Amino acid sequence: MLSTLNKQALSLPWAEFISTIYRDEYYPPLDGSFITARYFQKAELDRVKEAWRHTISLMREGKAPSELGLYIHWPFCPSQCTFCRCSMLVPDRNRDMEGAMIALKDEMSQFREVFKGMEFSSVYMGGGTPTFMTDQMLDDFLSHMHQSFQFSRSAQIYTEASPSTLTPKKLDILLKHGFNRITVGVQTFDDELLKKLNRTGQTKAKVRDIFEKMSHIPNLITDVDLMISMEGQKAPIFVKDMEEIIHLRPRCIHLYPFEDAPQTEFRKQGKMVTDQERKIESQLTLLADRMCSRAGYQRWNDNWNDSTLYPWESRQEASWRRFRGSFLGLGHSALSHAFGSAWYCHPRAPGKDFFSGNYGAQIPSYFLISSSAEEEMRGYAIESLARSRKMSRKVFRDVFKDDILNFNFLAEPILDLAGRGFINIESDFILWKNQDPVDLAVQIKRLYSKEIIAAIFKSEAGPFHTFSLKFGKNEIDWRRIIREGQSGHDTMAYYDSRVWSSIL
Ligand code: SF4
Repeated sequence: MLSTLNKQALSLPWAEFISTIYRDEYYPPLDGSFITARYFQKAELDRVKEAWRHTISLMREGKAPSELGLYIHWPFCPSQCTFCRCSMLVPDRNRDMEGAMIALKDEMSQFREVFKGMEFSSVYMGGGTPTFMTDQMLDDFLSHMHQSFQFSRSAQIYTEASPSTLTPKKLDILLKHGFNRITVGVQTFDDELLKKLNRTGQTKAKVRDIFEKMSHIPNLITDVDLMISMEGQKAPIFVKDMEEIIHLRPRCIHLYPFEDAPQTEFRKQGKMVTDQERKIESQLTLLADRMCSRAGYQRWNDNWNDSTLYPWESRQEASWRRFRGSFLGLGHSALSHAFGSAWYCHPRAPGKDFFSGNYGAQIPSYFLISSSAEEEMRGYAIESLARSRKMSRKVFRDVFKDDILNFNFLAEPILDLAGRGFINIESDFILWKNQDPVDLAVQIKRLYSKEIIAAIFKSEAGPFHTFSLKFGKNEIDWRRIIREGQSGHDTMAYYDSRVWSSIL
């Protein structure tokens, strides 16, 4: 069933239409980091395995990036925070989690043969809250992971954790299984605010105790997540939170501006962050920047194209995704990328009923779209230009063994966009000149393949003949819809410069 917006959007030219429904500039386009892409087609497990076999043979022949990541999604949390936009749910009882665990382990076993002889260079456990597993479950699951797959000696083994569930015992289990990076989602220390955000079980003492324990573990990378612009977060609370966090001395502080996405409880209650609150957020961001810099933290300026990534960021599958690295995702909502073969995902975490009983113990369905070397090249060019307004011809050559302008399917639209004044072609970079984010969102679609466009239209609009090219100014303010759909909220990351220099 098409939404009203989509019905109206159907009257738009194709590039504008796609820009109104897919807001994140990933290629192939997704509905957001935790949501399945609606135009992916249902696929059987055998098709997924076949895709991976092809990718692995490309990797062995040096025709695909060598990075191989493992992503595990554990959808359960003790409560639902009002600001959450993740694919998560609160279980009624341990039985729900047990069913999901059977499915997760089963899925992992299914891929054991396929990945035999391959080494994963990273593991990322996210969710949900992976540390919400019981001690026994976590220990068993991680043993199963090590029995199923091999990891390189330098692999980054990484989990997200919440202070309410990361007990000293859980930490010991993680360390026993080789975890070398943990991000603790603190968000705030303020008790009243925590209550308002429905973030149960977190106390200042728990955060301090776990950081005290982690500080004695050599080579463990500890990160902290804090959020800005949460409902009820007054400036003095935020300043106090920053002081407390700096005192704990994590290796990295991530600051996330709250995104009032439609799936948050906040938005479901009909609320939105006001312009005034966004102004305060900008001021708080500047303040946080000064506090971090005074305390010896250095802001990471991600320019997307080069290797200014900090060592632990560059070893994470989310970072090399931009250079088209491959990653195997397991569990509800997990997305996977098999270079040159396919992108696929499981659906978002379904409702509680799904997990009760045997049904939840089965591997969730797969939804897939095929990829190819050509699609990977398009993806690299599109994501670099859309996210940083700049694409490195050198990186392109490193990954795809030739200059981008030697591939006609990309050279043609790029020269066309240059002719129309949108981009500059320089010897080392291709630069996006036009500053309007809506123009960028629309024009970048010229680099999309016919196959991806057709797949989107097939699922969103039915056959092409139902798609009208009529477009009148008064029909729909599509520029506003595209602009409002762009989040524009960048995460900021501050690294302890002393640790950084010691690594160098
Ligand atoms: S702990 Fe994280 S994933 Fe769970 S509800 Fe809160 S924000 Fe969402």
